[in-house]
Amino acid sequence: MSNIFLFFIVFFAKLDTSDIDNYLKQWLNKEDYVFLFNPETKEEIYQYNKKNISISVPIGSITKIWTTFVALKRYPHLKNHTHNCQHIEGENRCWDKKGHGILNFREAFANSCNQFFNSIAEHIEFTVWFDELRAKGVFLNISYNNFFEKDKQSVFRGDNPKLVANGFDLAWMIYIVYNEGKAKDLTFSEKEINVLKTIKSWMRDVVLEGTVKGAKYKPNSFSGKTGTATDENGRYYGVFIGFINDPPLAIVVSLKDRIGSNASWIASDLFYFFTKRDKKIKKKNQLNSLKR
Ligand SMILES: [Zn+2]
Repeated sequence: MSNIFLFFIVFFAKLDTSDIDNYLKQWLNKEDYVFLFNPETKEEIYQYNKKNISISVPIGSITKIWTTFVALKRYPHLKNHTHNCQHIEGENRCWDKKGHGILNFREAFANSCNQFFNSIAEHIEFTVWFDELRAKGVFLNISYNNFFEKDKQSVFRGDNPKLVANGFDLAWMIYIVYNEGKAKDLTFSEKEINVLKTIKSWMRDVVLEGTVKGAKYKPNSFSGKTGTATDENGRYYGVFIGFINDPPLAIVVSLKDRIGSNASWIASDLFYFFTKRDKKIKKKNQLNSLKR
């Protein structure tokens, strides 16, 4: 794993800012993609390897956004839950080899602590998790029948290769959180809106103190969530979803054979490009796939 980190250091200051395609060509392979859109209007702004956007990949810990949504909505006492993460080898180990130590929910979200999410799984019913998310158009592409009670911890922490999403599914997730459930085509209750506000602020903490803190360019509103997954063959997938609000820009980055933090660095660089080049951004087609 360490070679992935070392290899993937990005120096955006040295890049030719006039050519985003050339920049991405350096870092992305033919199976990867980048997708930028306006999270207020759903307008597409930029795609790289566009044909891949509709291909589903395992999304890893991005799933934690939705476990958090269900937990805080349906089991509000869990907001005060804490857990002492000690890593511990085996199926339920945390990715952090030192262990995260004692974490509250906000810290566990920012650092994507697997053990914390294992520890809340026993408080949340599996059927509630699926029903809540399907009602919001999240994880519509996965089959409920593929999951069993024994999968609960791996699903809730996002460490299950059957949890897949394509770029439009991921854009939909950003759209919900960015707008705090309040856009006119979203139907979220006051209670749910408050939960989404909490999640949005915690996605800011992912950048400030969590798995994205290594990114070089971190504008004030930069928020997001990383996901690292392996498929049935042990192949790595690094995914990042995130946004800034001035100008309103949302991004999905999907990379094979990388980890989620790597994907967040690509996003960081593209936010740099696009905030510097904002006046040149052309409005493009409406993002029809987001209309559900
Ligand atoms: Zn941990």
